[in-house]
Amino acid sequence: MPVSALVGLQWGDEGKGKIADLLAEKADVVVRCQGGSNAGHTVVTDNGAFSLRLVPSGIFRENAVCVIGNGVVADPIHLAGELKSLEGAIPDPSGRLFISDRAHMVMPWHKALDILAEEHLGQKPIGTTRQGIAPAYMDKAKRSGFRWHHARNAGEFRKRVLIILAEMNIVINALGGTALPEKETVDALCGAVDSLRPYIADTVSLLHGHHRAGKRILLEGAQGTMLDIDFGTYPFVTSSNTTSGGCVTGSGLPPASIAEVHGILKSFTTRVGAGPFPTEAPDAAAALLRGAGTNRWDEFAAATGRPHRCGWLDLVAARHSARVNGVTRLHITKLDILSQFDELRIAVAYRMRGGETSDLPSDIRDLDRCEPVYETLPGWKKQLPACKSVAELPEAARNYVERIGEFLEADIATVSYGPGRGQTAFTA
Ligand code: GDP
Repeated sequence: MPVSALVGLQWGDEGKGKIADLLAEKADVVVRCQGGSNAGHTVVTDNGAFSLRLVPSGIFRENAVCVIGNGVVADPIHLAGELKSLEGAIPDPSGRLFISDRAHMVMPWHKALDILAEEHLGQKPIGTTRQGIAPAYMDKAKRSGFRWHHARNAGEFRKRVLIILAEMNIVINALGGTALPEKETVDALCGAVDSLRPYIADTVSLLHGHHRAGKRILLEGAQGTMLDIDFGTYPFVTSSNTTSGGCVTGSGLPPASIAEVHGILKSFTTRVGAGPFPTEAPDAAAALLRGAGTNRWDEFAAATGRPHRCGWLDLVAARHSARVNGVTRLHITKLDILSQFDELRIAVAYRMRGGETSDLPSDIRDLDRCEPVYETLPGWKKQLPACKSVAELPEAARNYVERIGEFLEADIATVSYGPGRGQTAFTA
């Protein structure tokens, strides 16, 4: 049975949580493949809205097996807290939630180092979520990290934590930070790890077993392609591969097993944190895109609560993303937010260095200086109907989404016009 991957095509916050939840309905296994608690997926169920950072979105579906794959860096204290906060809202996770024994841990000193690094950048921080993600991936690349299999033996784990904590406190002090208190830090970390030990598993073997048995597997990407460490707006990116390639290396499933790549695209553009943003809108339009005038005002990051920077849809960036991911199914979200505009702008090229290009430049200095070339499309200026099919959308709304599909050379699967499970129009 084929495997599907789901990826964000912009700077994150595309609404992946809702689409992952939708696809998870038809998935037996849902796998988080990269990133850590810097992600924030919002799933709205009949019991309310839940923000997931590490737990795969499939957790709300009783029959779904959920895997935190080897590509993830998982903070044990955060994960234990997240599971606690979900108690009562999700079916029992024991026996169906697994943490890869090859995944790395985000340790308390990683968080401290992340905060210090951002503070050292002064007025020009990267804008990280300060969750310790980059320092954890740095330790992974340096081959000095803690992997979850290290936690199988509680005594050995505690001993090594004490040694590394003492070393890291020297570094933290040298950088002008405050050393982490030994007993408190180790007790909190080991307590969390003790509660999570039953979930540690060889997820490569587990996933291959499910794949061989014909189970439907969904690889759930986090963040977005423009935050990918190779293909995004480097250095204003995250520390992992957020693309479909990252779904392969982050799960252990082979590339050829992936039959569908679901690309999630918000119908306008937002980004959180610093970095280039060619189509960023002036304040008034940005406020409208952030949700003013609608009954939803939710362009605030799920992981940090920071307001998003908002702008027009950037199809240059989106096509770059569709290409590097090999998107086969496109999901366009938040169309309802555009209902308030007389006309809509979409960027189809950048004017730069005396010419025009529709390829995404690699150097952020070009992205900072370029001027978007816009197409203008008429708005529909009315609330979107509660419809099940894209064909039932107003003509101007249909034209808008069809232009996107045409430019990205990808088939549209769904158009989302509200956060709820039912507020989704399908193409077929
Ligand atoms: P992610 O970073 O891509 O996982 O983003 P989230 O899943 O956290 O989604 C961001 C916000 O968009 C959440 O508050 C969702 O409930 C909301 N959302 C998702 N789809 C839609 C939509 O079609 N319309 C509106 N208004 N909100 C949506």
